[in-house]
Amino acid sequence: MTWRSGSVYLVGAGPGDPGLITRRGHELLRAATVVVHDRLVGDGLLAEIPPDAERIDASKAPHDHTLTQEQINAVLVERALAGEIVVRLKGGDPFVFGRGSEEAEACRRAGVPCEIVPGVTSAIAGPASVGIPVTARGLARGCAIITARTGASAAFDTHDWSAFAQMDALVVLMGRAELAEVCDELIRAGRAPDTPAAIVERATLPGERSVRGTLATLPDRADRAEIESPAVVVIGEVAAIGESRGPLAGVRVVVTRPRSASAELHACVRALGADVIDCPMIEIRDAIPDPARLRRALEPAPSWVVATSRHGAAAFARSLRAARLDARALAGARLAAVGPTTQAAFEAAGLMVDLVPGVHRASGLIEAMARSGPPGRVLFAAGTLARDELADGLRGCGFEIDVVTVYETTFIHPTEHARREIERGVDAVLLASPSAARSWAEAGLPTEGPRFVAIGPTTAQGAAACGIACAATAESHSDAGLVETLIAMRSREAAA
Ligand code: SAH
Repeated sequence: MTWRSGSVYLVGAGPGDPGLITRRGHELLRAATVVVHDRLVGDGLLAEIPPDAERIDASKAPHDHTLTQEQINAVLVERALAGEIVVRLKGGDPFVFGRGSEEAEACRRAGVPCEIVPGVTSAIAGPASVGIPVTARGLARGCAIITARTGASAAFDTHDWSAFAQMDALVVLMGRAELAEVCDELIRAGRAPDTPAAIVERATLPGERSVRGTLATLPDRADRAEIESPAVVVIGEVAAIGESRGPLAGVRVVVTRPRSASAELHACVRALGADVIDCPMIEIRDAIPDPARLRRALEPAPSWVVATSRHGAAAFARSLRAARLDARALAGARLAAVGPTTQAAFEAAGLMVDLVPGVHRASGLIEAMARSGPPGRVLFAAGTLARDELADGLRGCGFEIDVVTVYETTFIHPTEHARREIERGVDAVLLASPSAARSWAEAGLPTEGPRFVAIGPTTAQGAAACGIACAATAESHSDAGLVETLIAMRSREAAA
């Protein structure tokens, strides 16, 4: 692909979720030599900027303009004239209250080519993220997108509230601080106080929250929920749509899995309607053994290679690679995985698994291995917090065990944001390992109040040992099992 050098690309980053940038926008971001971004662009996208590209943060905190608009315009033009591929990455769509038109105009005046790459605007995606269609047949013939900002410091002196009051649907951006004023003005201009209204904070970003109400009740409810900027407000009959979003609608769920392994669970729980609070309690890192150590464990080849977690399986495969070994080093060895997730991790690395027990826990693995032939030497690809159950149990059956540590688990503290959200009250906490439970208890997070759901009995026991009584334990010890158990628990409680 060839790029015109010395150009400016005004790229819409979308509302926050890194998956919501356009393909064109993403291509340009990957090719940029200079990226000028603002505050509303999520970290997920910033991570995609090539490491050698110059990165300029044009963040505009309300009263603390890091760069003035004139300075931003000047930077874009200067860098483009110097031959750079300049991507101006703007939250949402560059032409929706983004001052993108001023930047495009500055380029035109300077003779710098400027391409506009539209984005998914928060004005539409924010409401959509909680199920609100800004136009809906029979309810809204159209919608107006307005800014709440008026007065001397803004570009508009006044708003014609009586005109806005007549719109079927109204979307208000930059309106968190002015929410009460906006609702009052609309009521004063004749809009019914019981008109549905909703506010969505951090739409499509981790920690997204929303509050529903009416013109009369929303400002107070939003204050009580401490809704903060960025937030988008929707007013009109459409704002009452989509309130129930699946079996976990409105349930506040904490995911404690390590960040490296939480994406699927997070997405699944969210798709079922829950408000998800990411609060990783552990971090998992490879602890690749010394190649000599690994070779010792593999020469002669053991009769079994065993892992009891996806991290163990994946890190074992990476350990082989680091020691410049491959499948030949395992010739003759059989592979055992505690459950399907561990199996999938082995097989993703090209190592086919011979045995997965019917009961996906250490006891099931011990029994199945003991049943499948005479005991031999076992290489156990373990983490630093591996419990002794598997090793002891296999030894008891006559196996010889070599525990090779391939990953390490460390406890981490919750972020400020997560702690605040948890203190505000949560319904359920998903625990996928005993170490996550221990880290939770050690961080001083509440062990009573929320309902704890364990991925399996081992996790439930580990939780009990540190004072956490689990309300439910998954039958199939997987993320899917966790989610099913949570849904079943909620529907039991709702029926009670
Ligand atoms: N060009 C942007 C809007 C810029 S104005 C777009 O098209 O989305 C900034 C305002 O956008 C914020 O004050 C807020 O009202 C809204 N906004 C942007 N991102 C948001 C998000 N993720 N969630 C809720 N509102 C958001």
